[in-house]
Amino acid sequence: MAECTYCGCPVEAHEPVFLSETPDGKPTAQFCNYGCLSAHIDDADLTTGTACEWSPTG
Ligand SMILES: [Zn+2]
Repeated sequence: MAECTYCGCPVEAHEPVFLSETPDGKPTAQFCNYGCLSAHIDDADLTTGTACEWSPTG
């Protein structure tokens, strides 16, 4: 039983979204749905410092 990385609920009870941050595709995080995924991204500031938003001044 996998727990949502964001809220801790069992993801199988919803429509789970699996996230892989490794080259071999092994899931490193899972979420109930895209709402929890989006909330987690906002909380973790994952939208800053990414390659597509790279800033030379930091
Ligand atoms: Zn959740």
